[in-house]
Amino acid sequence: MKSDLVIVYHRQPYEEVETEEGIVYRENSSPNGIVPTLKGFLGRANHGAWVAWKEAEDTSNPGFEPVVEISDSFGTYSVSRLPLTMEQVRSFYHVTSKEAFWPILHGFKERYNYDPVDWPTFRHVNWAFAEAAAEQATDDAVIWVHDYNLWLVPAYLRQLKPNATICFYHHTPFPGPDMFNVLPWRGEIVESLLRCDSVGFHIPRYAQNFAAVARSLTGARLIEDQDTPAALSATGVALNDRVTPLTLEHKGARVAIHTSPVGVNYDYIQSLARAPDVEARIANIRADLGECKLCLSVSRTDYTKGNIEQLEAFERLLQRRPELRGKVRLMLVSVGANRNMTAYAEVQERIETLTGRINGSYGSLEWQPVALISQAIPLAQLVAYYGAADFASITPLADGLNLVASEFCAARRTGHPGALILSEFAGCAVLLEGAIPVNPFSHASMDAALDQALAMSLEEQEARMQALQRSARLWDIGAWTEAEMAHFEALRDMRAKLSDARPAA
Ligand code: UDP
Repeated sequence: MKSDLVIVYHRQPYEEVETEEGIVYRENSSPNGIVPTLKGFLGRANHGAWVAWKEAEDTSNPGFEPVVEISDSFGTYSVSRLPLTMEQVRSFYHVTSKEAFWPILHGFKERYNYDPVDWPTFRHVNWAFAEAAAEQATDDAVIWVHDYNLWLVPAYLRQLKPNATICFYHHTPFPGPDMFNVLPWRGEIVESLLRCDSVGFHIPRYAQNFAAVARSLTGARLIEDQDTPAALSATGVALNDRVTPLTLEHKGARVAIHTSPVGVNYDYIQSLARAPDVEARIANIRADLGECKLCLSVSRTDYTKGNIEQLEAFERLLQRRPELRGKVRLMLVSVGANRNMTAYAEVQERIETLTGRINGSYGSLEWQPVALISQAIPLAQLVAYYGAADFASITPLADGLNLVASEFCAARRTGHPGALILSEFAGCAVLLEGAIPVNPFSHASMDAALDQALAMSLEEQEARMQALQRSARLWDIGAWTEAEMAHFEALRDMRAKLSDARPAA
């Protein structure tokens, strides 16, 4: 059955488990995260489809059904599994996307690695994704493509499905031309994105950067923009942009530039934080801490996440303020998602070395200044740490949005509000009012932020946390879902009007 909504995302929308009865498709246990969020859209369509890759030794004879029909609590939908060899995955995902695109998207020119990129394989894999998506889609479907590893899919799809509404969403930052144009394939990528009906971003600055890149490389002109709404421009944050671009014109076609930040499942996190077992866990953690204050930091191990800078600031705190020794702890959750890649292994090693140095220099049998956790913590446990900490410190050097900061706010409660130190270079900094803004490139700023969080009065914490919770709730996952659905509807209407206005052949 053809689908009127096709989501193209590299990961499969369930956990595939081998049991004695054969393969079972198990629904992801947590309703948190991007996969369940995107699956929520499938239930809103007449019939939805999802396109992802699945490992196969021989792609022409993969040994599994390419398309399966899934029924779960999200509804009944098709999943198309594109067979790729491990070598194709390594090339298109781990090398081209993670070693070449990722550093550029986050502004790390010096980490950009051109040599191992195999561009024909990247094209080939993107073409295969486009073909698989086209096979699932009705002629006028909405086809929604996610993230930079699928940048060429829109151009191929437009050849295969000229009347489809093609939308692309970036979950990362998007840099300006001085950075983006380092990519030798820049023209091909941008021409592909300009074949979309809509190109989406978390925040206005990334949208502006895309408009500037498109202008720098093609004849695209910005023909419509608007003042950025106050709720998307928190006071004095580096990533703010006062103007949000809306429409580009390119080769006679209009391309919507869509700004809409993904949110967290606010109500779910809040209900987890209030569950009796989580409350009991929070009480235990606080009892273990005694008079000690807990600073919490949670992220993946990645050079973009600023974990090294975080540890260095904490080390300086213990050097600068000897009276705090024994009275404050840092819990650093830094989860290694890409262990097989040199760049991430290096960061992990530096984190471990620094942690060892701080604990060795200042720790005692009774007090360990840094607790480093490198294993992923299940959300219900994480929420207990969100609830127990005195403040969170989220200090990425660059981050598309950062959900952890908003999750922390959703988990807090009156009486123990706490503070949030938040990098100005996390996308969510433009929408979360009430955080202590920090520049992770500045020692002075990092030091001042820690001092401010430690000294903040309960009244100030309450007032700031109320504002933070208001904004995290305003931009939660429900708001994102409604904004996206309304946007698809408007784009489809526009396409239908254009085809009605076209003279019959
Ligand atoms: N997370 C988790 N357990 C951990 C660390 C992180 O469940 O031990 C989750 C966290 O709750 C959040 C996500 O991982 O939902 C990280 O999202 P974020 O946008 O902050 O960063 P990303 O990794 O997508 O860059």
